[in-house]
Amino acid sequence: MGKVYLTGAGPGDIELLTLKALRVVQQADVIIYDRLVNPDILKESKEECECIYVGKEDKHHILPQEEINALLYEKAQVHDVVVRLKGGDSVVFGRGGEEALFLVSRGVEFEFIPGITSAIAVPEMANIPITHRGKSVSFRVVTGYEAPQKGYAQLDWASFKQDETIIFLMGLHQLQNICTQLIAIGKPKTYPVAVISRGTLVDEKVVVSTLEDIYEQSKDLPTPALIVVGEVVRVREALMGKV
Ligand code: SAH
Repeated sequence: MGKVYLTGAGPGDIELLTLKALRVVQQADVIIYDRLVNPDILKESKEECECIYVGKEDKHHILPQEEINALLYEKAQVHDVVVRLKGGDSVVFGRGGEEALFLVSRGVEFEFIPGITSAIAVPEMANIPITHRGKSVSFRVVTGYEAPQKGYAQLDWASFKQDETIIFLMGLHQLQNICTQLIAIGKPKTYPVAVISRGTLVDEKVVVSTLEDIYEQSKDLPTPALIVVGEVVRVREALMGKV
């Protein structure tokens, strides 16, 4: 029986793949990969490597999680090196922990290989440092999307009151609601917000605005996109010589 590597592919730019991830990609007999993985990474695999797309959309999974689990299990029975490749880091809203639990329950060996998460790298490459002395000593990474089948809201908006930097993943379609809620708990309407679309890729787009105005300016941006809320957004202007 083989081993499954639960591997983060980084946020997009292929040079943000770690050396450890590259090594297992090169050794892989099978690579099972998601939508947010830069497909150029697959070119690094062996010619005979089988690459299987199980593309996850933000809102629904093209292949249900149970089927992905079953596929991992099945491939580990017949191959030595199975790589499960996901965008960013596989345990940051990537269900890596669930897949690991499933594999353990079936007696399959696994290893996590961390990836560079979009939550930190995408703002950083857009010149927004997520902590910054004098502006923010903490950051919070939140999912902006909550599965409707849960039937209740998990986000406790009041708890965001003291937060400095807030990074919303999967939040573009909730942008208006996010801004309304943050204003409702007392954040100023002029509070800085950035939306970064297709971060670290050649067609990256960055829109910087305020809680009040960002929605109109960025609602049509392509996904994947993330939202950064906080004073650190202003550091970008300073770094880019605009203030
Ligand atoms: N495991 C991933 C996150 C999965 S959730 C990670 O660690 O990065 C998917 C969300 O990540 C997207 O909806 C988007 O909010 C964010 N995201 C991923 N790649 C991105 C990119 N290149 N640019 C902007 N946002 C990105």
